[in-house]
Amino acid sequence: MEHSHDSVLAGSIHAYSIYLHTPFCQQRCTYCDFNTVAGRSSLIPRYVHALCTEIVTTTANLHQPLPVHTVYFGGGTPSLLQPEQVQDILGTISHVFNLLPGVEITMEANPGTLELDRLAGYHAAGINRISLGMQTSNAEELRMLGRIHTNAGTIEAVDLARRAGFTNISLDLIYSLPCQNLASWKATVQDAVELQPQHLSLYALKLEDGTPLALRVASGDLPEPDPDLAADMYEAAAGMLLQNGYAQYEISNWALDAPGQRFQSRHNRQYWENRPYFGFGAGAHALLAEQRLVNLPGLTAYIKACETTQPAEFPRGPATTQATPRTPQEAIDDHMILGLRLTEEGVNLADVTIRYGIDPLECFGSQIALLTKQGLLEFTNNHLAIRLTPRGRLLGNQVFYHFLRD
Ligand code: SF4
Repeated sequence: MEHSHDSVLAGSIHAYSIYLHTPFCQQRCTYCDFNTVAGRSSLIPRYVHALCTEIVTTTANLHQPLPVHTVYFGGGTPSLLQPEQVQDILGTISHVFNLLPGVEITMEANPGTLELDRLAGYHAAGINRISLGMQTSNAEELRMLGRIHTNAGTIEAVDLARRAGFTNISLDLIYSLPCQNLASWKATVQDAVELQPQHLSLYALKLEDGTPLALRVASGDLPEPDPDLAADMYEAAAGMLLQNGYAQYEISNWALDAPGQRFQSRHNRQYWENRPYFGFGAGAHALLAEQRLVNLPGLTAYIKACETTQPAEFPRGPATTQATPRTPQEAIDDHMILGLRLTEEGVNLADVTIRYGIDPLECFGSQIALLTKQGLLEFTNNHLAIRLTPRGRLLGNQVFYHFLRD
C-alpha cells in the first residue's frame, strides 16, 4: 500500500528524526540496564547489514523520501562500529530519506574506544556531533561504575575528536553516585567545563533492579545515594554551568549559549517537542503516524526478522513487535509532559491549540492553577507559555503526573 507524504506527516509539517540503536558494548558497566550485550562484537557486520535492510524495508512503501533533520547513533556503544559501517548506514539512509541541509548527525561514543583515525573516519562519513560518556572524572567512581576508560582517556578523547574535525562535542555526566560527595561532584563538573564542550547532559543515577551496582547497594556494601544531596548536586552544577556560559534548556541538558540554539541537541528536542521519529535496531522505539512502535529487543531475533521478513504496512518494519495507536488525548498529555522538560521556553499554549485543537487552559486549568500555587509551575513569555520553576525542575515527576489523564 502506498502512502502519501501528507498522510504520514499526520498534520505536521516538521521534519523527521532517526534513532539507530547499536546494542554492543566492550564490557557492561555496573549501573547499566540498557539493551546491550558485551562480547558479541563478531555479530556487528551482520547487525549492520540487518539495520540497513530494516531501513530499506520499512520505507519501501512510502510514496516519496521523507525529510529528515537529525540522525542519532545511540547505544550501547556505536563507536564500536567501523567508520565504513557508519558510512554504509548513512548511505542507506540518504538513499531512502531526504536528508535536509544542515542535518545534525550525532554519535554516542565511549572514550575507551576512540583513536584519531577512527574519529576522522566517522567525521568523513558525515557524523558532525559527538556525545562522549565521561560520567565522572573521579578514578574511584569510574572504577565503581565499571567504565572502561580513565579520566585521562576522556581528556584524550576530547582532544582527538577536535583534531578529527568535530566542533560540536557533548559530555554526559552522572551524579548521585554511592560515596560521591558534593566536593567530588563539583570537581567532576569543573573538569568537564575545562574541556570546553559545546553541550553537557547531567543525569542522576537511577539504581536499576538487578544491576551489579544496585545489588551492592542492596547488600549494604555501598551506601544508598541521598536524594537531598542529589538535589544539592543538581543546584551546584546548574550554578557552575551558568557561570561558565552554559544555558540550561532542558531538565538535564545545557548548551553553550550561542545564537539560534546552535548547540542544543536538535535530535532530543524532537522528542521533547513530541514530533515523529524512526527507530531502527534491536529494541528501538519509534513514534510514527501516531503509533508507538517497538522493535524486537533480542539481538539474534532482530537480525533474523530483518533478514527474512517482507515489507509490512507502514509504519511497521520487519522487526516491529509492538505497534500501539496513540489516542489524541495521549498525544496532548505527552506534549505537555515532554514540553515542560524544556526549562526555558516551556509549553507554548497557542501551539497546543494549533496542533491539537484544544485550549490547554481549559483541559488542564485546575492542574495548572494548583501547580502554580504550589510554586512548581509559572507562566512566562507574556502569559503565552507555562514552564517549571527552579523548584519544579527538582520535582519534575510530581508535576508531570498531573498531566497524565487516564
Ligand atoms: S557503555 Fe553505556 S550502554 Fe554500554 S554498558 Fe556502559 S552504560 Fe551501558
